[in-house]
Amino acid sequence: MYKFRTWPFLECAPASSDEKPLPDSFGKLLQARSGQIPWWCNRHLGVTLCTSWVFLFFVVGVRALRRQVLYCRVFFDRPRFYLRLTAAAGQDATRPHSTICAVMETIGRGVQFADLKFLGQPRVIATAVLQGPNGLTLVDPGPASCLDTLRESLVNHGFDLVDVRELLLTHIHLDHAGATGSIVKENPDVEVYVHEYGAPHMVDPAKLLASASRLYGEDMDRLWGEFLRVPEKNIRLLKGGERLNVNDRELDVAYLPGHASHHVGYFDQSSGIAFVGDTAGMRIGDELFSMPPTPPPDIDIDKWKQSIDLIRQRQPATLFITHFGPHDDVESHLDAFLEHLDAMTAIARHSLEAHEDPDARMDAFIRKMRVYIQRHVSPTTATLYDSAAPLSMCWLGLARYWKKRGV
Ligand SMILES: [Zn+2]
Repeated sequence: MYKFRTWPFLECAPASSDEKPLPDSFGKLLQARSGQIPWWCNRHLGVTLCTSWVFLFFVVGVRALRRQVLYCRVFFDRPRFYLRLTAAAGQDATRPHSTICAVMETIGRGVQFADLKFLGQPRVIATAVLQGPNGLTLVDPGPASCLDTLRESLVNHGFDLVDVRELLLTHIHLDHAGATGSIVKENPDVEVYVHEYGAPHMVDPAKLLASASRLYGEDMDRLWGEFLRVPEKNIRLLKGGERLNVNDRELDVAYLPGHASHHVGYFDQSSGIAFVGDTAGMRIGDELFSMPPTPPPDIDIDKWKQSIDLIRQRQPATLFITHFGPHDDVESHLDAFLEHLDAMTAIARHSLEAHEDPDARMDAFIRKMRVYIQRHVSPTTATLYDSAAPLSMCWLGLARYWKKRGV
């Protein structure tokens, strides 16, 4: 008789000294077939595995385990894998929303961003996600209509909305800050940083929602979802000029009016990334084309140009813009932005002066702008610009700007 032992190693040995040991080849055969022996046949191994899992889940904790998995991903440079995934899946505007698309791209040490797939379209709205020892800091969480995509992106990287510690708002427009109240409701300790001019409208959004409703009408819900007020205790007021130390990261705050009178930018000291919201325009395709989003009510071209100067002075390595993503060619991007800001402002003025009828003025502006945009980007990309900042809204903002100046 031979006895089989499977712990600690699979082996076959003679039961008594009067039997010959098995030839080596038989032992090797058993080793090769070891996968066919179910693990539960081996009591010792089964008990060891069970106690290991119990230890991992109840002593180490599920959340800590998820965090360890994330560190391993970072350690083994998994972000490159996600970049490839996003490049393959995220560029296709016709692809339906799916889990594989809800991944984040890494743009710096501990800095990632999520594509919120606004209205199912990629590359329209981005949220920056900063990781630190205390959890996550988000720059512009986007509209509430994209909250599920944001959550899914975080979960796919081992986080959740409960891990968010701070929300840094560049400004309070619904496509940037609409989900703020919903996140605070789920996670009541979140600190919300916002410019002092915008803060009152986060606490009492009645005026903000009334003016947005005038612009978007019945489309409000479909576009932006529910806008919840933010309790005053969560608000941290900014003026510009502060140095924030959030989540072990130093961020300089700069006041950047022009697109909105309450717009700020955040300059990350360690990564060299400047989170500039809408100040450096929208750049959705690969082309060097940056279009200013100019919705009402407080477009100011002169202040906007001063804000661009301020960004230049700080010499960031990367511009992170909400519509859409990171751009490293900072100087040429800003040059292109100023060129298109002037062109767009001139087209608006010409449309105002050439027509009397308000509808005819807007139609002329939209027609000329479509031709102008398609001179610089493909027709498919041009439709994404229209999603991020509809030309009708851009017209209203610029017309208001010129009318205030007596045109
Ligand atoms: Zn905006």
